[in-house]
Amino acid sequence: MTANLLDFDLEGLAAFCGGLGEKRFRAVQLYRWIHQKGQADFEQMSDLARSLRSKLAGVAEVKALPVVSEHRSADGTVKWLFDVGAGNAVETVFIPEADRGTLCVSSQAGCAVGCRFCSTGHQGFSRNLSTAEIVAQLWYAEHRLRATLGLPEGQRAIDNVVMMGMGEPLQNYAALVPALRTFLDDHAYGLSRRRVTVSTSGVVPMIDRLRDDCPVALAVSLHAGDDALRDSLVPLNRKYPIEELLQACQRYLDAAPRDFITFEYCMLDGVNDSPEQAQALVRLLKPRIHCKVNLIPFNPFPLSGLLRSPRERVLAFAHVLQEAGIVTTVRKTRGDDIDAACGQLAGEVQDRTRAPERLARLRQVIPIAVQAGQGQP
Ligand code: SAH
Ligand code: SF4
Repeated sequence: MTANLLDFDLEGLAAFCGGLGEKRFRAVQLYRWIHQKGQADFEQMSDLARSLRSKLAGVAEVKALPVVSEHRSADGTVKWLFDVGAGNAVETVFIPEADRGTLCVSSQAGCAVGCRFCSTGHQGFSRNLSTAEIVAQLWYAEHRLRATLGLPEGQRAIDNVVMMGMGEPLQNYAALVPALRTFLDDHAYGLSRRRVTVSTSGVVPMIDRLRDDCPVALAVSLHAGDDALRDSLVPLNRKYPIEELLQACQRYLDAAPRDFITFEYCMLDGVNDSPEQAQALVRLLKPRIHCKVNLIPFNPFPLSGLLRSPRERVLAFAHVLQEAGIVTTVRKTRGDDIDAACGQLAGEVQDRTRAPERLARLRQVIPIAVQAGQGQP
């Protein structure tokens, strides 16, 4: 079988090259050609020994993902849809900001967690992406953007990666970690540890493993300050309730004491956005954990049955947290004219988990009151 070299972090590539009888420095050269220069054709890798190039030709390739579409938003956001086979497609979003370029990367085709407010969750789960399929998103986006933006040699387009696309990254741990290592490696993308963020709905044992294996920045999707409400929004809470989750967050910080956890909180009209709920969140977080809170205005999609909190309510909620000394930001919604905003990434998923039925049942068991007519911007 032909190996896809996007599947390897540097150690993996060194082992692969070792198997071909090649020294480690050859693997470093090859890794730099692939990731720093975006070169997929071994013949073009001019300073790579001819003998290695011909060995590689038979056994390896740099296989990117086929691009189904590319959409550019009026605000500069770019969304790509990549074909991952068997009727599945995943989305990747580039978000340019004044001081940095962020890429939002997918980790799975669909997601098995099934959060009520998330379009990916409503689609169900098809399969985990491989390391190569995760890395290919950054590989393609970085080199495509360098070309389209006409960036000078050596200047990168993307300096921040967030695992906030489709999927729950910590339910695809084995493929995730080598991908993160490639994002961080100075011979590849050289991103700083604080500029690679894993966002999780709270897979507690994997938070501990990430701390030991590759402690990048951690964002935790909290969305509620009590277990009853969080159970109804993030079904995984029934397995790993808030107290256990916060203890895992604290253990994560113990390994890197100067860091903080970002808690994401999707603002749902009439569900989790009252001043009392903000106060409960303060009581939960303030005494015990070094954190920031990022309030995300809910991006509605058909069938969610939920509405976005009105702006005044989001600001009032933020005010309560800020008054208590918790650094709080309200996420700007970007790229919504091309459905590239948080939670709108739907791709194409061949569901194998009957998620739509599961969610319909959940909705019957735990009805959430939504006052019609409010919340739309
Ligand atoms: N599975 C991971 C990462 C992908 S979701 C997680 O849940 O953290 C990335 C972020 O988008 C999460 O914080 C999630 O809560 C948020 N999100 C999902 N659906 C959303 C929606 N419809 N509107 C706004 N944010 C949403
Ligand atoms: Fe999965 Fe995250 Fe969406 Fe929940 S919010 S369904 S964990 S992708």
